[in-house]
Amino acid sequence: MHDHSVDDRAFADEIVVRLRSVLGAGGDAVALHEPCFSGNEWDYVKECLDTAWVSSVGKFVDRFERDLCSITGTAHAVAVVNGTAALHMCLKLAGVEPGDEVLVPALTFVATANAVRYCDAFPHFVDVEERTLGVSPAALRDHLASIADLRAGVCFNRRTGRRIRALVPMHTFGHPVDLDGLLPVATEFGLVVVEDAAESLGSLYRGRHTGNFGCLAALSFNGNKIVTTGGGGAILTNDPDLAWQAKHLTTTGKISHPWRFDHDVVAYNYRLPNLNAALGCAQLETLPEGIERKRELFRRYRAAFSGMSGVRVFEEPTDCRSNYWLQALLLDEDRAVVRDEVLAATNAAGLMTRPAWTPMHYLAPYVGCPRMALPVTESLARRIINVPSSQQLVGGGA
Ligand SMILES: *Cc1c(COP(=O)(O)O)cnc(C)c1O
Repeated sequence: MHDHSVDDRAFADEIVVRLRSVLGAGGDAVALHEPCFSGNEWDYVKECLDTAWVSSVGKFVDRFERDLCSITGTAHAVAVVNGTAALHMCLKLAGVEPGDEVLVPALTFVATANAVRYCDAFPHFVDVEERTLGVSPAALRDHLASIADLRAGVCFNRRTGRRIRALVPMHTFGHPVDLDGLLPVATEFGLVVVEDAAESLGSLYRGRHTGNFGCLAALSFNGNKIVTTGGGGAILTNDPDLAWQAKHLTTTGKISHPWRFDHDVVAYNYRLPNLNAALGCAQLETLPEGIERKRELFRRYRAAFSGMSGVRVFEEPTDCRSNYWLQALLLDEDRAVVRDEVLAATNAAGLMTRPAWTPMHYLAPYVGCPRMALPVTESLARRIINVPSSQQLVGGGA
């Protein structure tokens, strides 16, 4: 048993002091992440109301999709109702079929796994690495080498007999995963790559935007993300045929015609309303300065915690430029036992903090799913503490 000693309390109190040195010494409550509306949000949303173009058709949807393409460098973007719906569609378009398995990090938000189940497929959990917080290429390769059979280029799980169709790397807290390491493993085992880029809008891997490396990628514009449309998401792809199908599948499968209602597939009503897209267009205009502020917030945290042992501020992997969507403290392994005391002390001091997600293989719907050994996921889940990350915490604007 760990003795919750004075030393632990001093450690937790020291974290409060150092966070306060960045966030302001007043007793003000500080949220974990708040949206920032400092640009044309009011004007664009008002324009929708004034013109009555509020729903699923309108110029802001088209503009939002074009703006996403220019920011991410992908050829096509299809705006949808949320990031989970975007992931669901990406997996369907990637050819995930009922009874397949899809490789998903155990350290992620539950939506990644849920989207797999919406396809009646099964998530197969893989470990992450501490350097990126994302899927570990080495662990994945070792695991597949021991459990997978390649038959005519198609990957099968020897233990379950199921086809393993796709890999969904996730860019945790905005930090790009090791794509140079993962893509060759995916190729070797015939896996389609779908990026869960829900958290990484604006993050670059070797100068290229995340979401540009897989066959398809999903973005989220939920209220807590770096850009919000209230609720929203997008599908990114460089493949024109997949882009057409993405639009078709998310707009009820309607065959374009001035008055006829013909539908050639069972499809979805997942299109983003114009009202939400209007908010998104304004948000994208201020994304570059938002990222600059988040990167500055990271530098302030790093300076504040330099010289404190037992904890560090998570820093973007080499060769990456992260959006630093959510800032994270990483406790040393021998301090993991103090995590809850740190969470209690910081929240009691009005500084909202929280642990990382409960790993997927501990969640009731997913306990029985196939997985590899997950030591790094389990260690990180004990040691990560997310700390206040709103861009407004760095001055120079609203
Ligand atoms: C936010 C998020 C999603 C889901 O996006 P929603 O818009 O909330 O549906 C999926 N994956 C990850 C990793 C996320 O952080």
